[in-house]
Amino acid sequence: MDIFCDILVAGGGIAGIAAAVKAAREGADTVLIEKNSFPGGIAIHAMHRYICGLYNSDSDAPVNTLNGGIAEEICLMLKGLAPKTKAIRMGKVYVFPFATEDLLKVLRNLSDNQIGLTIFYESKLDSVITEQGSIKTASAKKLNEQLVIYPRSVIDCSGDGAVIRLSGAAYELSPANERQLAGFCFKIKGIVNPSGIFPVSVPYYIFRAVTEKKLPANLKFSKYYPGNIDDEGFCIINLPFENNFENIQEAGKHAVIVHQILADSLVSFKDSFIDKFSDAIVEREGLRMTGQYILTKKDVLSARKFHDGVVKNAWPIELWNQDKGPTYQYIKAGDFYEIPLRCLKSVNIKNLYGAGRCISVSSEALGSTRVMGTCISIGEQAGLAAVNSLSGNTL
Ligand SMILES: Cc1cc2nc3c(=O)[nH]c(=O)nc-3n(C[C@H](O)[C@H](O)[C@H](O)COP(=O)(O)OP(=O)(O)OC[C@H]3O[C@@H](n4cnc5c(N)ncnc54)[C@H](O)[C@@H]3O)c2cc1C
Repeated sequence: MDIFCDILVAGGGIAGIAAAVKAAREGADTVLIEKNSFPGGIAIHAMHRYICGLYNSDSDAPVNTLNGGIAEEICLMLKGLAPKTKAIRMGKVYVFPFATEDLLKVLRNLSDNQIGLTIFYESKLDSVITEQGSIKTASAKKLNEQLVIYPRSVIDCSGDGAVIRLSGAAYELSPANERQLAGFCFKIKGIVNPSGIFPVSVPYYIFRAVTEKKLPANLKFSKYYPGNIDDEGFCIINLPFENNFENIQEAGKHAVIVHQILADSLVSFKDSFIDKFSDAIVEREGLRMTGQYILTKKDVLSARKFHDGVVKNAWPIELWNQDKGPTYQYIKAGDFYEIPLRCLKSVNIKNLYGAGRCISVSSEALGSTRVMGTCISIGEQAGLAAVNSLSGNTL
């Protein structure tokens, strides 16, 4: 099937949905291609519990999100489904809690009936033809059908930079042994608390204390989060990049080891069981497009503002080092930095934008820009910029 459109969005994760909805709302004929049968990408695969990157780093409970727009809209829609939800403090920053099934509903409500937006699920983009520095066509397979898309502008929201790679766009990728730990999540049920107080929390230092001596290095950095229902909780274990990402059974075995240690060491987990494994191992760090500007660690930590700043962010640089585990470098309280539009625009492919976790940032800056709240706003701004470029309004 031949498809002609203004904007092609590759990937329907949190950034891709925001990019496609924004482009369609701006009047562009927009096509979104997603290989899964559902929207949300990593956030759904890995059963995330909190939207990070929505607020500045003030000590007071936040009233509004830093960027407004679709990020604010998603929070309001989530609140509509779970009215008691409010931002909660985590360390020095605030996050917005949600349930996986609610986020799925919200993303579908936002995108399914959007005028001007056509979504192809279960379709994998697998080739791109570039001529004279512009993308001419992109092809995807949907079951046995071949889709050939003729877009005027493309936004790569595939997380791992599928279009960036295929189009010959410039990019950077850290060596495997320097990349941040990947993650794998599982859901635990049957948790009790003899004192009757819920939710049962397992602070990171306790988690480390019980797992420290018994586990290989990467599993020591696992984290536990209580669930929405009293007897449930979620655990994210970490895997070094050398682990075969396709080998989900191997990840499952690691998860069973971590759960067994919890059950043996903490009375609340004695009779608990693993209810669900996530259906993918998810990457914290992948390919980063080289854009017209590369955001640095210094830009983030000095709360730098830019003449073309389009997204505000105050999430710390959160790095999951293969040897040291998680470290957090914070931005000054109450302040934020900006992501310039140039980070969203390929340096060498004229009609290519990047959004979400594959934008033009250094490996360290990615530790701050990759969180969901920020990815939503980056997607929205990429959608707007791609539409503006159609009328010759380019950088
Ligand atoms: C272990 C871990 C824990 C995290 N915890 C949190 C947290 O608690 N809170 C938070 O805010 N952030 C968290 N993050 C970060 C955050 O989840 C992601 O960085 C963010 O969701 C990325 O969104 P995205 O849309 O850029 O990419 P993705 O979610 O990766 O979406 C990309 C989409 O593109 C699709 N795709 C890929 N290739 C193709 C192709 N060739 N054709 C068609 N479709 C394709 C994929 O199927 C996917 O749906 C965590 C990340 C990890 C790895």
